[in-house]
Amino acid sequence: MIKKFFILFLFVSFGVATMAQKKRDFTITIADPSNVLDVETKSHLTFAFNVLYPGFASADGYRTKRDVMLEVANNETETIKAKAGEIKVNSEWIKGKSLKKINAEFKEALTKSWSFYSTKKSRGYRLTFISKDPLLDPIVRQNLIDTYFEIYPTLVKKFNPKSTHDVLFVVDTAYKAVAEASGNRILFSANYLKAHPTDIDVVTHETMHIVQGYGYSAGPVWLTEGIADYVRYQYGVDNVGSKWSLPAYNTKQSYKNSYRITARFFAWLEQNVKSGLVASLDQQLRAHQYTEQSWVNLTGKNIDQLWDDYGKNPDKVNLKYSDKKSK
Ligand SMILES: [Zn+2]
Repeated sequence: MIKKFFILFLFVSFGVATMAQKKRDFTITIADPSNVLDVETKSHLTFAFNVLYPGFASADGYRTKRDVMLEVANNETETIKAKAGEIKVNSEWIKGKSLKKINAEFKEALTKSWSFYSTKKSRGYRLTFISKDPLLDPIVRQNLIDTYFEIYPTLVKKFNPKSTHDVLFVVDTAYKAVAEASGNRILFSANYLKAHPTDIDVVTHETMHIVQGYGYSAGPVWLTEGIADYVRYQYGVDNVGSKWSLPAYNTKQSYKNSYRITARFFAWLEQNVKSGLVASLDQQLRAHQYTEQSWVNLTGKNIDQLWDDYGKNPDKVNLKYSDKKSK
């Protein structure tokens, strides 16, 4: 099912990129106290590990185990068995095997949980898609891929032209939240997609996090998430189709509530106070120049004053939602 060429392509591209950045990213320890593996076999295993494991790890998540233990376990596998942090080999099988054969079997073991793999390139942007859910609806899968190519280049151009053009989507059954972005990878919950198959603008929100790329302590989380949801509101491809909207203002809210509440406040600010405000804040956050003073510099008022103004006339905003059906 999974074409070998593509897998090799993935491993080589991710592997090389990862190793070029950090040499000591992943380590392998071969535990072989009774010395049943010969020197050449050990060197083949180490080589295969260095080439293959980074690609596996990028699909596994940033919490994946980086220090890996390899053990001989003839009663557990007839060839090679692998999961995060743990590799088992059969010493009888591996005896005298060529590097090519070890590589192939290693690859097979590492990608066992992948039920779908594809990579697509269009107009200078690439998306690698891995699903670990054999039941992922092919229509949902295609919608996620299409949404990436529709929205991501727009966000990159508008907010951060230096952002990566090479993104990885992973649909994982073991992941329990909705979705999250880290580095160039977006992790989607298989269960969430199953329950919310129309919510394709999760892609818009999450790819905006890649574009944001603020790094650590650039600003408060509510601001990062508020911007991502404002961008989903503004650029999303089908917010009507997923029944996604910005909640009406009430006095119990705060701009620190984050997500859609903050996003509605931003929509109001863009229309009533300063057009382009969100893009300016985004730039400052990325440059690590954002402070509370940024609001005063950009609008003449601090954030609490702006929120008070919003509370006095919250419905003075014209909200329009994207609707794929009407296109
Ligand atoms: Zn988010």
